[in-house]
Amino acid sequence: MHEIYDVIILGAGPAGLTAGLYAGRGGLRTLILEKGQDGGQISLSSDVENYPGQTAAGETGVSLAARMAEQAARFGADRCSDTIQSAELDGSVKALAGLYGTYRAKAVIIAAGAHPRPIGCENEAQFTGRGLSFCATCDAPFFRGLEVCVAGGGDSAAEEALHLAKFARRVTVIHRRDRLRAAQSIQDKVFSEPKITFLWDSVVQRLDGGGALSKVTVKNVKTGALTSIEASQADGMLGLFAFIGYLPNSQLFEGMLDMENGYIRTDENMCTNLPGVYAAGDIRAKNVRQAVTAAADGAIAAIQASRFLQQ
Ligand code: NAP
Repeated sequence: MHEIYDVIILGAGPAGLTAGLYAGRGGLRTLILEKGQDGGQISLSSDVENYPGQTAAGETGVSLAARMAEQAARFGADRCSDTIQSAELDGSVKALAGLYGTYRAKAVIIAAGAHPRPIGCENEAQFTGRGLSFCATCDAPFFRGLEVCVAGGGDSAAEEALHLAKFARRVTVIHRRDRLRAAQSIQDKVFSEPKITFLWDSVVQRLDGGGALSKVTVKNVKTGALTSIEASQADGMLGLFAFIGYLPNSQLFEGMLDMENGYIRTDENMCTNLPGVYAAGDIRAKNVRQAVTAAADGAIAAIQASRFLQQ
């Protein structure tokens, strides 16, 4: 690809799509690059009830992201599907090389988000996609009438346990402490759902099964005692959904950009240590990671990129 864009946005989650909307609307030649589905992490969310103005019943992360993408496209942002494998960010023209081409621009907004933290238990790789899932929206229907476990105690674990309770016969939340981190309003719902029970002070130690997952071994972190949750003979399998936080998708930029525990460090204008390079959303070092804060980051980054290009 020979065209030099004004700005390339890496990632089509709420941060990237909002940056695309603002950059396009600001008259910048804009390209959004995304390797997967639009929406990033919200596309894994079955219910987005805290995005301002989002009051429509049945709104999923996927449907919200689709409207964000449509809005960015309406203001002229191009979108391309590719997986970026290397980046040159220090010149006046920056280059991102992907599987299908090299993309160039005078400014870059990195909004590549984060990915689910693996559990780190025995046999995790073997059972990923065979009972172990990181996306309840995607996989809950496979467990209709069966028993499932949820690992984690944050907003994601609690919300997705509620979603899973619509399908599963029983949901056991396995959490490493004796209280949830999730927002109180979500906790209230979880504690009043009769299908959901809790295994406190516990972590997943090992997965077993012949083909599909049928046994989850859990360790009590206080006593060291091991217990197991096993699928009944009639069921033959059970599900484990892991929501124990996220890790930033920033490996590509290691050594190039200043980071803090893998998150890209920016100032309040989303500027990184390199001129014309911005970071927005969950990939950025910050305290609050929500769809609305990601969107705000994206808007700021695009406005700053526009000012940078005018100089
Ligand atoms: P999170 O808030 O970081 O919670 C991760 C949970 O996993 C915590 O309960 C944590 O335990 C546990 N955990 C972390 N590492 C673990 C390990 N190695 N083994 C076992 N357990 C582990 O992650 P999240 O729930 O995915 O949420 C991420 C961000 O998105 C948060 O800012 C959250 O507020 C936001 N979010 C918001 C909504 C919403 O507002 N509707 C929905 C989803 C997510 P401890 O509690 O002991 O640390």
